[in-house]
Amino acid sequence: MEENQLMESGVSELNSNAFFIDPVRILNRSYTRFRVSPSTYYSRFFDSLNSAQSPKASEDSRKGKRKRKKKIQSLNEREQIADRRHQEVKPFLLKAHEALLEATDLLKVLRNLRNDGCSVGECKELSQESSELSFMELGGVWQAPLCEIVLNYQQDDKTFQNGGFPLAQSIEQKVTPVFNNLVANEGSYDIEAELFNHKYIIPKRSCFYMRPESFGFTNGYLFCSFSGFGSLNLIYLHGISNLTFAFYWSCVLKSDMQQIDSLIPAGSDCGFNLIVIDPPWENGSARQKVRYPTLPNRYFLSLPVKQLCHTSGALVALWVTNREKLRDFVENDLFPKWGVTYAASFYWLKVKANGMLTGELDLFHHRPYECLLLGYCDGKDTHSGNSTRLNPIPDNRVFISVPGDYSRKPPIGELLLDYVPGSMPARCVELFAREMIAGWTSWGNEPLHFQDSRYFVSK
Ligand code: SAM
Repeated sequence: MEENQLMESGVSELNSNAFFIDPVRILNRSYTRFRVSPSTYYSRFFDSLNSAQSPKASEDSRKGKRKRKKKIQSLNEREQIADRRHQEVKPFLLKAHEALLEATDLLKVLRNLRNDGCSVGECKELSQESSELSFMELGGVWQAPLCEIVLNYQQDDKTFQNGGFPLAQSIEQKVTPVFNNLVANEGSYDIEAELFNHKYIIPKRSCFYMRPESFGFTNGYLFCSFSGFGSLNLIYLHGISNLTFAFYWSCVLKSDMQQIDSLIPAGSDCGFNLIVIDPPWENGSARQKVRYPTLPNRYFLSLPVKQLCHTSGALVALWVTNREKLRDFVENDLFPKWGVTYAASFYWLKVKANGMLTGELDLFHHRPYECLLLGYCDGKDTHSGNSTRLNPIPDNRVFISVPGDYSRKPPIGELLLDYVPGSMPARCVELFAREMIAGWTSWGNEPLHFQDSRYFVSK
């Protein structure tokens, strides 16, 4: 039963508040000519299948390991608040996970998700492919404003053969700047785009706005992406404090703001009804792996969320880490500054291909779940009586999936549509995006990252 739902829609209801999702199937709704390659999406967490350990056995070993978890008495005040939050959500997470472990047919499907529908040749490994383009590096060179992307629109020839099939296909090309420009595929088919010998798949009816990366600053490190420095550079600034750097930083923030302003609707009815934000928060793991530049919290205060809202209002979905300091900042500073009223929390619980959690639930700094905070931002028409009635948003909903690449979030935007104000189709935007979705606008310094053709196979 659950496995049929999963095969058809990519979403399987485990109980009234918990769902298992296959991001690959959900993403594939955006494509007509290509499909996301499951073996490149699921680049992690499938190794555990080779181990003989059953879900039950690893559950037992987890219980043993719990003894190692941080003792409650040794937690500082902030950690104690974080622990209370964790204890509150834990029953929902455990119930969802138990429901998954009981769905034996679904577990069988889960184990095969990585090879799903791929021929041997299609099940490609990313390491065997050519390296991908670094948009951070490209955006840092002085020639960035001159970089152009070629959009290849396939047009079926108007002459049809007797059988009704197109005789030939012609390609119509559009060349347009790739940075500081809203690049759109308004057609009903996904298209292939070319940038410096790399190919990108652009979903139907989608657009992106890529801001060029110049430099960032994080905890004493200056992040540069100028050509000649290599791909991603971190320079430690001895003796330069965050405060001393504030002047330079404020210049960077100002120019960032001007770039996001170009998404702000000119027409009164052109704002967004759903705004998904996955900020590059500063945290130990992002800094350690240096996959992308992070930004200090105060940066996000100036995001013009209110101005991006549709006149009928918007649902704002913000990914946060489990750090209490950040939760406190969002609740007390960020949401009030953005004009967002908190509504509910959803959780993304991460499992391996054998159905087990990716880490110990009680392990203090590495929880196997992430939180999506949901809130509403009023638009000018929200209280005018013209606004549509909203379904009440449930709290503590749990989505379970096997994670893709580092920091890649599951595409749950579509699952939020029931709670989005305004008329359908909703206008949706993702800020700090690394991929594109049909019908959405993606903004960030690398919205084409997961659109590289190496992540796709032809249909
Ligand atoms: N939601 C994404 C996903 O699922 O793959 C991950 C987003 S990641 C947490 C944050 C993104 O913000 C990274 O791609 C990073 O390069 C980008 N970023 C960092 N600084 C930025 C800035 N000043 N402006 C725009 N994007 C930035």
